[in-house]
Amino acid sequence: MAMSFDVIVIGAGPGGYVAAIRCAQLGLTTVCIDSQAKQNGGQKGKPSLGGTCLNIGCIPSKALLDSSEQYHNIIHQFPAHGISVDNAAIDVAKMQARKDNIVSGLTDGIAQLFKANKVMSVHGHGRVMQDNTVNVLDDSGKIIQTLIAREIILAPGSVPIELPDMPFDHEFIVDSTGALSFDHVPKRLGIIGAGVIGLELGSVWNRLGSEVVVLEALDDFLVVADQQIAREAKKQFTKQGLDIRMGAVVKKIDIDEGGIRMSYTQKDRDNNIEVDRIVVAVGRRPATDGLLSPDCGVAINQGGFIEVDDQCKTDVPHIWAVGDAVRGPMLAHKSAEEGVAVAERIAGSVGHVDFNCVPWVIYTSPEIAWVGQTEKELKKQGIEIKTGSFPFAATGRARAMEQPIGLVKMIADKHTDRLLGVHMIGPHVSELIGECVLAMAYQASSEDIARTIHAHPTLSEATHEAALAVDKRAIHKVN
Ligand code: FAD
Ligand code: NAD
Repeated sequence: MAMSFDVIVIGAGPGGYVAAIRCAQLGLTTVCIDSQAKQNGGQKGKPSLGGTCLNIGCIPSKALLDSSEQYHNIIHQFPAHGISVDNAAIDVAKMQARKDNIVSGLTDGIAQLFKANKVMSVHGHGRVMQDNTVNVLDDSGKIIQTLIAREIILAPGSVPIELPDMPFDHEFIVDSTGALSFDHVPKRLGIIGAGVIGLELGSVWNRLGSEVVVLEALDDFLVVADQQIAREAKKQFTKQGLDIRMGAVVKKIDIDEGGIRMSYTQKDRDNNIEVDRIVVAVGRRPATDGLLSPDCGVAINQGGFIEVDDQCKTDVPHIWAVGDAVRGPMLAHKSAEEGVAVAERIAGSVGHVDFNCVPWVIYTSPEIAWVGQTEKELKKQGIEIKTGSFPFAATGRARAMEQPIGLVKMIADKHTDRLLGVHMIGPHVSELIGECVLAMAYQASSEDIARTIHAHPTLSEATHEAALAVDKRAIHKVN
């Protein structure tokens, strides 16, 4: 007989596990089904909660970004402080073991949170049937359990997109998961796609000594970001040694004993390069394969995304969907906020996600962060704006840190002064953006930030001065 719950959640990534915990906090009996297994170490293959984010995404990539930045700083930053270190070396196995430990600690932590909140955890593949029933299948496709619930939340997340005719072989042509697990530093690394993953993981291996070539199909760099910030980013990354080739379309990959050759066209000219490994990072697609039985009624659009309204309701009453598998940016915090909002709606309360205030962060060095709209997007909509910017080089703190790189750019409505977007590149901007997200969430004006006291000497003074610059009254630069 089917076990019965108030809520079944499918997927234990940031969308699913957060929704499950919030449902349980609100007194709903909740089960969470997830198919993810541990990637590395002695427990490889065992169930592992936390989804892409904790297992093969946000957390392991940030662990490697941090290790590689420390190594890079010893060689390139320490000498400016008068510190010299002879024979700095990187032990890749140790670096990877540290990363695996961090992942294990956090994924096991989710299991403990489930226990503490009385969320039942089921390992397997969830498949939605008719009448609010979900079958759980094992790896061979056998039904191992049938569950039924008043409400179902779908949070299956996303998977990497494969290039046609150039499938992942998981040895020479890898996805982000493969690029997080190299056991040595590839001498020459080819990356297809100069998006968020290409830049973050390209930075990791470049800092550790790979010659990294990034091939990007589009002519414009980082089209999702404000183009003033994107231009500065490209300048900095190129200086660091990332060889970014724009308008480059890969046609063929040949692998033989001689090595790996990528053939591509750029400005109608044929080119090729030899590399040792290739990372394909051309975007992700919703992980809906096998999730929905044909008669369950949940609609999927052409891109494979589960169709939802702004409340995360699907076409079928009592079935909701959140996270990477639905419209909107593929970001962990967006998934989690949707998960919380849906749990609260199910419990009869009011859920809220402010889609205008979803922050973006790219964890390169310098970091890139923004919230709200870009100058180009606003101009396209015919909105009249005023902008102010301020370079980190003019702050005492960035200079003391030996990181006088980048800027803060603030965009406000020309007539009302309401903040419409804040864009940053520079040291620790992943942390600085929080103030601006809060300001935008509270519909602040640039004057509100300008009138707020910011501690001295801090990096946040660049935010303050950018706000002052909107009104052409920055103190530490010529307006
Ligand atoms: P996921 O985290 O993908 O979780 C879905 C879970 O559901 C998975 O465990 C999956 O195995 C399981 N599942 C799928 N289908 C089924 C099924 N039918 N039955 C049972 N289980 C199923 N975002 C950020 O905000 N910041 C970052 O720094 C960041 N870094 C990233 C770095 C990398 C390398 C990658 C790949 C992604 C990164 N992301 C980052 C994106 C982030 O990981 C995703 O946006 C986030 O994980 C989405 O959460 P989710 O809950 O929607 O899905
Ligand atoms: P992306 O959309 O960020 O970038 C993909 C890039 O590949 C784009 O610039 C695109 O123009 C290019 N591209 C597409 N097809 C190509 C081709 N055939 N040849 C060359 N270039 C091609 O996707 P991603 O980097 O794979 O990351 C996927 C998603 O994961 C991101 O959109 C983001 O939502 C999430 N993510 C977030 C973070 C973060 O928040 N720091 C980190 C990693 C991943």
